[in-house]
Amino acid sequence: TPILMWFRRDLRLHDHEALSEACNSGRPVIPVFINDEVVEGQGAAARYRLGLSVASLAKSLEDKGSKLILRQGKALSCLEALIEETGATAVWWQRLYDPVSRDRDEPIKSALKDTGVDARSFAGHVLFEPWSVSTQTGGFYRVYSPMWRSVRGNDVASPLATPGSVPGPDTWPASDSLQDWHLDKAMNRGAAVLAEHVTVGEEAARGRLGAFIANGIADYKTARDFPAKPGTSGLSENLTYGELSPRVCWHAGQRAIEEGKAGAEHFLKELVWREFAYHLAHHTPEITDRNWKPDWDAFPWKTDPESDEVTAWKQGRTGIPFVDAAMREMYVTGTMHNRGRMIVASYLTKHLMCHWKIGLDWFADCLIDWDPCSNAMGWQWSAGSGPDATPYFRVFNPETQLEKFDPDHVYAKRWIAEGHSSPPATALSYFDAIPRHWELSPDMDYPKPIVDVKEGRERALRAYEERDF
Ligand code: FAD
Repeated sequence: TPILMWFRRDLRLHDHEALSEACNSGRPVIPVFINDEVVEGQGAAARYRLGLSVASLAKSLEDKGSKLILRQGKALSCLEALIEETGATAVWWQRLYDPVSRDRDEPIKSALKDTGVDARSFAGHVLFEPWSVSTQTGGFYRVYSPMWRSVRGNDVASPLATPGSVPGPDTWPASDSLQDWHLDKAMNRGAAVLAEHVTVGEEAARGRLGAFIANGIADYKTARDFPAKPGTSGLSENLTYGELSPRVCWHAGQRAIEEGKAGAEHFLKELVWREFAYHLAHHTPEITDRNWKPDWDAFPWKTDPESDEVTAWKQGRTGIPFVDAAMREMYVTGTMHNRGRMIVASYLTKHLMCHWKIGLDWFADCLIDWDPCSNAMGWQWSAGSGPDATPYFRVFNPETQLEKFDPDHVYAKRWIAEGHSSPPATALSYFDAIPRHWELSPDMDYPKPIVDVKEGRERALRAYEERDF
């Protein structure tokens, strides 16, 4: 009898535990992707990018003599319908750890098991499942460094090969057409602009990893801080949809260490930040939508996501070049350099004193590498409300950061057209990406700072000192 292989954020054939086991079972495998309420709830750029990934997976499966069956609706109803139509007796998938996915998956597993279906989940989205690592006293890690120290020497099993073929059933069930889902429908920014910046599918992802190991990893430790340089791997986009397994990245990093490439250990450290985000989201799911430190509920956050200040931040019109360049980079490319993320998040939550959830939501709408756990951890870290966070009183100065990390203003010029006689194509592409109703043009004056950097900092610190917690 067939096995339904339910793909979610594991859109690859390589190093896929559930798929490998299914292919080895000798039974027909029916790969399925469901456009359910969890997908519907995602941001515009993430859904657009997901559509590209699903198309790529479908193609990889076709090359193996298989197919990807697409269904839309509640996941459980879709799976039950497929069980009915195909006679499948098993539904297998790879585990996710964020609260929204867990709230969906746990009842599905019990409901299927209750009807005698072999509902089984496998590891694969992270290196170390959140419950498999614990502190010396048996609790979970609230601080990154001890977690890193505890896992850095762990054995990580070797990646699994891509199955030679994916055996299918004699008759295939019906499938929706991906085009009809219009996963790009919420993209009121020019998807065509974003399309130039995506690297889609497992083959491209592995190519990107290979290029990074060959050319980038040796200098990674220092180059990773400079947003004008291609100093990082760019793999977050692929890891979030599971086009690449973290295990493949880990082993590639380990080999680079053995070859004496200086930055390689630092790359593993960053992969463990991703693990830490999943660890936290599993043990404290509230991290994704409430102040992790409840004391912060008493802070006078501004909460209007449409205020003039927030709009200026979203549009990259705060008058602070580093902030504006980074916000525009995200709007055009769907990603933002990590230093930019830290700076714009600090600016929003400290200089503007806006609630980090406003930023979290905007990032979720704009990022093609949106990850429910890393995004939440990043915002709470930046705001000071999270675990192992940067303290609120440590306010990034976006002007000195620019001088330090973009001393020749290459990054700022790349994204800001106003005030320059011949701006580069990247800076102009921002104006192709934005919706018309924003009414912005490259001929406008570059805005004056909406908040003076020094005053904004002092205001934030006063509020912090006056807080009654
Ligand atoms: P590299 O520097 O090449 O790092 C390799 C991999 O390690 C990354 O692909 C990523 O998977 C992981 N990693 C690196 N830094 C972090 C980190 N700080 N936290 C968690 N994982 C990390 N990352 C996302 O993947 N999705 C998000 O939605 C996201 N939102 C963020 C929001 C804020 C406010 C902040 C401060 C950070 C956020 N990050 C997020 C983390 C980080 O900025 C990105 O992972 C990184 O910029 C991706 O670029 P890269 O793949 O070139 O990273």
